[in-house]
Amino acid sequence: MAAARRFPGRRIKGPRGLFTALVLALLAIAAPAAAEDVALTFDDLPTMSLTGSLDYTATTTRRLLAGLVRQRIRATGFVNENKLEATDRAQRIALLSRWLGAGMDLGNHSYSHLSLTSTPLADYIADVSKGEQVTRALLAARGREPRWYRHPYLETGPTLEVRQGFEAWLSQHGYRVAPVTMENSDWVFALPYDEAVLRGDAAQAEHVRQAYLAFTAQSVTWYRQAAMDLFGRRPSLVLLLHASRLNADCIDRLAELLRADGLKPVSLERAVADPAYATPDAYAGRDGDDWLERWARTLHKTLPWESSPEPPADIVAEDARLEPNDDPSAERTESGS
Ligand SMILES: [Zn+2]
Repeated sequence: MAAARRFPGRRIKGPRGLFTALVLALLAIAAPAAAEDVALTFDDLPTMSLTGSLDYTATTTRRLLAGLVRQRIRATGFVNENKLEATDRAQRIALLSRWLGAGMDLGNHSYSHLSLTSTPLADYIADVSKGEQVTRALLAARGREPRWYRHPYLETGPTLEVRQGFEAWLSQHGYRVAPVTMENSDWVFALPYDEAVLRGDAAQAEHVRQAYLAFTAQSVTWYRQAAMDLFGRRPSLVLLLHASRLNADCIDRLAELLRADGLKPVSLERAVADPAYATPDAYAGRDGDDWLERWARTLHKTLPWESSPEPPADIVAEDARLEPNDDPSAERTESGS
């Protein structure tokens, strides 16, 4: 399966106090009910899961796409083509094709999910180029081209020189960077959910789903408020998710949750047309920050990370048990892409 999926955008964490929770709750009640747009993006296609089984991958894809179609959501999926390398490669490519058939868009997430912070630029570019072969052909068959690149771990380059070098390559090849302005740490819940499903433990699967949806509700509230504080209005948001069985099985409830909060699902193109996305982002460094954090730096503001919600401890522990290869000591301890 794919490597670690982490970005350290949420670095400064502390226990969330009762007072902070109360203030956030009051703000949520007091906030105007105006709807803002949200684009749903899914990383690590064909799927992010505990098993490479084609059957599990196919079921996840079918359920996720059926849910998105049912909810009339036009999502963008970001592909790691190294996940196609198996004896059943043709069937895995067919799963990607289903995304386009269901009206979704596909973008590049590099071939092997490399870190731009720790990979020389030339090697990274070679990997990204290798990562579009199948996707470009699938899009071309429909008269389209790949338009979006999502950086693994949201790492955009450790130095300005690397960052500008890669972004020049992207624009020469017709790509735009797909930013992230909201996330719900879905990757922390995804593998514990797979484990429960594969074990046939329906009670635990339901526990993980409930915990995930509750945490998503808290995360959406926090990101909407952070974005509101940053811009003095409610900008469109781009939600980072992963192509997991958890999201496939929760997609209706996720869509309901977003709509109940006044969020309206739109395409990625439409979301980034919001003028907020033209805010300069001059960040160069090792961290993979989300774009609210990048813009906060440009605007000389600070996001209230100390009040951002934390996933439940039992889920975090279960995820750590299932992903023993992750290095928890590095800066990459909080979130992922
Ligand atoms: Zn990823």
